[in-house]
Amino acid sequence: MLVIKGGHVLGVGVADVLVDGGVIAGVGAFETPEAIDARGLVVLPGFVDTHRHLVQAPMRGSGADLTLGAFLSEVLPRMVLTPAEVRAAVLLGAVEALNAGVTTVLDWGHGGAFEPEVEALREAGIRAVYGASPGDAPRFASSGLVTGAVASFGPALSFADNARDISVARSLGLTTTMHVTEAGAVARLADLLGPDLHFVHGNACTDEELRMLADAGCGLTATPPVESMMGHGAPVYGRFTAFGGTPALGVDVVINSAADMFEQMRAALWLERLRGSSLAAGALLGSATAAGARAIGLGDVVGSLEVGKRADIVLLDGFGHLPFDLVPGGIVATAGVADVRTVLVDGRVVKRDGVLVDHDLASLRAAVDDVARRVLA
Ligand SMILES: [Zn+2]
Repeated sequence: MLVIKGGHVLGVGVADVLVDGGVIAGVGAFETPEAIDARGLVVLPGFVDTHRHLVQAPMRGSGADLTLGAFLSEVLPRMVLTPAEVRAAVLLGAVEALNAGVTTVLDWGHGGAFEPEVEALREAGIRAVYGASPGDAPRFASSGLVTGAVASFGPALSFADNARDISVARSLGLTTTMHVTEAGAVARLADLLGPDLHFVHGNACTDEELRMLADAGCGLTATPPVESMMGHGAPVYGRFTAFGGTPALGVDVVINSAADMFEQMRAALWLERLRGSSLAAGALLGSATAAGARAIGLGDVVGSLEVGKRADIVLLDGFGHLPFDLVPGGIVATAGVADVRTVLVDGRVVKRDGVLVDHDLASLRAAVDDVARRVLA
């Protein structure tokens, strides 16, 4: 049992958070022998990144001028990795996420190497939903912090395959996660829509399709920096909220996006403000936490600091000077990874006072330097 003492608990005010057996056991005033001093810090739920290809972590920054088409045809085919390299790459990506306060990630593992990816996620100590290919999904056993989803290629390629993937996922009780890049694809799935379907991008969706997704309670993830950089079209954020949906946010790939949720929130906000929207900055925090958890089937597990939820918690530095009502917007507008002081996953401290407890990022990066050199040669 431990208590996070005296922090500004987002949405509550100054309070203690009691953690017992990996669960949030209380928000109020508590004394326990083990305490984390959170005075002057903001206490918020761990960030939920609902769409990331972790295996591409070694390729960070390599795609600043790449279109999606060029990436898919020129770079991706060259990314042929050994199982050991896959494991090292996914471990690097997952630890980068933890360092940034991302406590849950949906890792799109489709087409990757199933065992090394899952082993790396477990070794990292992150909460992960592993997007397994429809063939792998039935043999994937969800346990502990790593649970499964079916990663489907989505309706653009083949409606029949997509529908079959969804039925496989439903027979296993799993979320189906899929990219959707063309108009009309969601409409073809009209009879299958439900809260266990998670779509990514959706830039080309018609208004009617976005309304269908919102009405059916489907998850929808925007990845604003990547979409802006690679020609996907305008991110769907504001259009989806107009129909009552709350978009989730994902990093997608670090070839041209920072590996943290601050950048995703900020890019979404900037793009909406450029459209003339008066979207409140602080609302983006909900997309990066609770809405993200809901979108990937973990809405009852994480995403908010509620009693009974798992204790995935971030302590953020740099906002102790602000009146409480300005803090959420202040975080979205200005926070960065350097402000992430302490991170807990399932009640366990994985980053303390700015330092990762179990991993060293520099050596994880060094371990995959050769991968990037080979692919980019
Ligand atoms: Zn993707």
